[in-house]
Amino acid sequence: MNFLACRVFNQSGEVSHQLTEMSVDELSAGDVVIKVHYSSVNYKDALAATGRGKILKQFPLNAGIDLAGEVISSESDEFKQGDKVLVNGCGLGEQFDGGLAQVARVKSEFVIPMPDGLDAKSAMALGTAGFTAALALHRMQQNDQTREKGPIVVTGASGGVGSVAVNILSSQGYEVIAVSGREQYHSFLKQLGANQVVSIDDLKLGSKPLEGGRFGGVIDNVGGELLSQLLAHVNLWGNVASIGLADSAKLSATVFPFILRGVSLLGVSSTNCPMSLRKDIWQRLGSDLKPDALDSIITDDVALKDVSSVFTDILDRKRYGRVVINCQ
Ligand code: NDP
Repeated sequence: MNFLACRVFNQSGEVSHQLTEMSVDELSAGDVVIKVHYSSVNYKDALAATGRGKILKQFPLNAGIDLAGEVISSESDEFKQGDKVLVNGCGLGEQFDGGLAQVARVKSEFVIPMPDGLDAKSAMALGTAGFTAALALHRMQQNDQTREKGPIVVTGASGGVGSVAVNILSSQGYEVIAVSGREQYHSFLKQLGANQVVSIDDLKLGSKPLEGGRFGGVIDNVGGELLSQLLAHVNLWGNVASIGLADSAKLSATVFPFILRGVSLLGVSSTNCPMSLRKDIWQRLGSDLKPDALDSIITDDVALKDVSSVFTDILDRKRYGRVVINCQ
């Protein structure tokens, strides 16, 4: 059985991707073969497929860190033909062939039964972006992020992680300050539940090591100067979840917020999240953490053959919310 995949090649240092016809035998090894119904495009997929970021550990490789679909065949006792499943992270689309394909073959230890409350499309509307937003909130709540500590700032708010984070935080009863550099999406973010939507300049952040406490916590997708400045404004015992580097990987800070206010900087790594926690988070994404505005967060439904333009759009900051890829 032949199928199509968005395959990434490296020819003498030039990285490019192409829709390629393949057979199952050509895929990286695994004991479960899945017919992919939906995948998605995350910032990381765009970096990987265009070569703008060094994401892939080997070439050629099918792109896509997310997939959802149905088991075609399984050598594992845990799964059988017809099971509805999803995979996110775990090296998918980085170390082994990924989800931007009509068929994928993966190790059963990475496969998650589709949680109640989700189907292939809604699971991929969440994808790694939604999973990461939920993982950040989970880590913050484990560290006692109560509503009383103050509003939560979400940076890069109109993006995939940001839009899901805004909606989940709001439905969990947190006051949300969405930070977005694109004014045209401010009403979208209000619709997702943000109490305030502001630009970075509107925040009027100070640059001293410790500034007046204004925020209960932060979910940060941007990094760099913004993250450094936000740390100095977090209230006593608040949490800052560091997710992304949309602006910069640099962080310049002092220890004062940590040692004088008990602020915690929490790392969030979706790729290698332990499997038991990964399953718990997905269960919650289908139930108590399921975004109530998920339909609005899906801003496009694109056929696999047209995925290429989505990569460049995301890197050029021309997209918002989540784009699902129909692989059927
Ligand atoms: P998106 O491209 O969908 O969203 C990123 C958002 O960041 C944009 O929509 C934009 O929001 C803002 N942004 C982009 N460029 C800049 C800039 N130069 N300065 C300030 N803001 C900027 O990406 P994702 O939501 O998929 O991912 C967000 C970040 O999180 C990425 O860096 C990604 O690599 C990382 N990530 C990390 C994961 C982990 O496990 N730690 C998992 C998933 C993602 P706006 O226009 O509203 O300001």
